[in-house]
Amino acid sequence: MGNNVELESLRRQVRDVTAQIMRNVHQRMELAKQIGEIKNRLGIDVKDEKVEHDISAMVLSLADQIGMDRDFALQLLNVLLSESEEVQAQRRQKRGLKQTHMGIFLKAKKIEALGKKIIHMEVGEPDYAPPASAGNSLANSFKLMQYHYTDTRGTPRLRDALAKKEHVYEDQVIVTPGGRFAVFSAITSLLKAGQELIVIEPAWPAYKECADFVGARTKLLRTTIESNWTPDLKQLEEMVNPCTKMIVLNYPNNPTGKVLNGKAIDRIVSIAKDHDLYLLSDEVYADYAFKNFAGINEYGYDRSIMVSSFSKRYAMTGFRVGYAVAAKKIIAELARVQAVGITSVAEPMQHAALAALAEDPSENVRTIKKRLDFICSKLKEMSLRFVQPDGAMYVYPKLPRGEDIPLVEKLLEKGVAIAPGSGFGDCYWQFVRISACQPEKTLEKGLDVMASVIKEQA
Ligand code: PMP
Repeated sequence: MGNNVELESLRRQVRDVTAQIMRNVHQRMELAKQIGEIKNRLGIDVKDEKVEHDISAMVLSLADQIGMDRDFALQLLNVLLSESEEVQAQRRQKRGLKQTHMGIFLKAKKIEALGKKIIHMEVGEPDYAPPASAGNSLANSFKLMQYHYTDTRGTPRLRDALAKKEHVYEDQVIVTPGGRFAVFSAITSLLKAGQELIVIEPAWPAYKECADFVGARTKLLRTTIESNWTPDLKQLEEMVNPCTKMIVLNYPNNPTGKVLNGKAIDRIVSIAKDHDLYLLSDEVYADYAFKNFAGINEYGYDRSIMVSSFSKRYAMTGFRVGYAVAAKKIIAELARVQAVGITSVAEPMQHAALAALAEDPSENVRTIKKRLDFICSKLKEMSLRFVQPDGAMYVYPKLPRGEDIPLVEKLLEKGVAIAPGSGFGDCYWQFVRISACQPEKTLEKGLDVMASVIKEQA
């Protein structure tokens, strides 16, 4: 009897404390909204790493004081920080201050649907054709009735061929619907709410978007044009805390074209090993590396996940075939997401990918390199500052004045689509990304329009 009364009383207290926590969280969100308004007015970034660092230090010291588990305290804080950031970012989006390359691409498509011509320099979608063998394979798949569900991890033949190409075992490979889904499965299956991943900015926006999906926190290591887009690895190590679970790498980089040297990758792998971190290496542009590039598989690190794709290598974006290479245990985690979400990649597309794999992509690589050189020469004529890309398909110049979005919108009115730099990180609003996925003549036209608009703004 006594026990029952005590249990009831404790339950009442738990309810009251929970209600109090909810009220406090609500009050915190209201304060975050007010801070967001002021940031908007002043044009300040939503994310402030210094403020976050200070508040984390406060929470850790409080956890020690009250005898709370440090990891749990940080995870709770991270959930609160993510929510505040979301509220502030939504306000910014509503005011139209945030746009990505995909947003501009969709706007451009709408304009095209009205019958106007657009020069596409905003997306990384090559204009050249996929290998004929991939097309023939598609037609054959229909004739041969090869259009069924497959193993979630991909057809044995494609996985076997990919394993040979990557020098790994076949159970270390999963075929995914594009590199994007490999990134999504890796981040959503390996990270939990409140845990952290480190992303080197400027960056393809999907890493943070995937982390947001599960309430994981993205910590940003920002790089600058002044330092040739080289990350400060001392700073990287200092960012690691008990909540950190993953570092994301993307070299050759979208949007800067940077390729990190082997020494830097060695150091990053050793940081990851020291702290037991996953290393997600997005290598979808690996073929388009114009200098020595060390892929993550060379390190044999059992917590690395290498992402690759047929999209860029063979201009097969719409086929939606990519793959990941990792330890068997990690592949099983990715397969779990894939089984729930999509069953398997479409069988005909996997056969087409297998056919393409026999083809040499070096002609595509030469084409892109030549176009990038051409874009760089035009940007030099405009006196814009940029770092000559070591790889990938983009140049990321700094504007001489003004912000990216007004320029991007003005250009769109004139039939030229380019990507705003801020889509790759809030603080890069003085940059734009130009993609080399059009013939030189088309690029020339687009860049001439860009030059004249920039001149008008002078
Ligand atoms: N990673 C990066 C860095 C990219 O730029 C892209 C596409 N733009 C992808 C992954 C995904 O490509 P896909 O899903 O078409 O393989």
